[in-house]
Amino acid sequence: RGQGTLSVLIRRYGEGMKLVLSQDITERERADAMRRDFVANVSHEIRTPLTVLSGFIETMNSLPLTEVERRRVLTLMGQQTQRMQGLVSDLLTLAQLEGSPRPAPDRWVSLDTILARINSDALALSAGRHAIVVAQDTGAELAGIESELLSAAANLVTNAVRYTPSSGQIEVTWRRLADGAGELIVADTGPGISRDHLPRLTERFYRVDGSRSRETGGTGLGLSIVKHVVQRHGGELQIDSEVGKGSRFKLHFPPTRVRSCHETALGVEA
Ligand code: ADP
Repeated sequence: RGQGTLSVLIRRYGEGMKLVLSQDITERERADAMRRDFVANVSHEIRTPLTVLSGFIETMNSLPLTEVERRRVLTLMGQQTQRMQGLVSDLLTLAQLEGSPRPAPDRWVSLDTILARINSDALALSAGRHAIVVAQDTGAELAGIESELLSAAANLVTNAVRYTPSSGQIEVTWRRLADGAGELIVADTGPGISRDHLPRLTERFYRVDGSRSRETGGTGLGLSIVKHVVQRHGGELQIDSEVGKGSRFKLHFPPTRVRSCHETALGVEA
């Protein structure tokens, strides 16, 4: 097969075929390059904490440490281990998302349950450093998979808490649009993201500030998970941000995936 088959096909079907085939090959090369990049990134992300861990093990083996020093080293080792656990867990989430069928359009999930969970997670993570307001009693329901929707919302809120300096504000709101679509918005008063970075933000392992992201436990996979989830639910992720002012991440769901438990049989909100 391969080149031989290609040249026979090209002779038979001419230039048009050649164009289509070369597009196909370019597409495949692009996919191969992406896969190679991905593997290189994963290896790098795993190798770094492993190197740090083995350094600590050597230190503990070769140096007489005081109890305080020993505890400090163990805490740092714990952080590196957590970093790898986070990475593996995000990688598994991505693999599951890619391998599973699109969420059914008729399994309804309560948005208020999701909001209650992210509210308590955000409060715990922020530990009182931010002013956090999360919508409640929306009465809205989304068609889809609860664990995925929760993970998308939680990723956005975790980022907001991570990147917003102390005493900043984080607000999670829900609104229904005139056409029946629904939007879950996570807004913060953090550092914002410059325009040049926005288009690449949802790429796997893309970080605006690598060291800041790693320091705070980021894997660089969060927003690609969010985008995947919302797209599988027929929606899209929209990002608005202004440097120095803050960011707004919007999960937009189409009317077919949104309903309100207050809706009448006609599907119109009172
Ligand atoms: P990470 O695990 O690094 O947070 P994400 O995919 O969730 O990875 O986010 C990608 C990058 O986008 C982050 O590294 C960070 O630089 C930037 N980012 C995400 N959310 C925010 C936010 N709320 N405010 C400022 N920057 C953000």
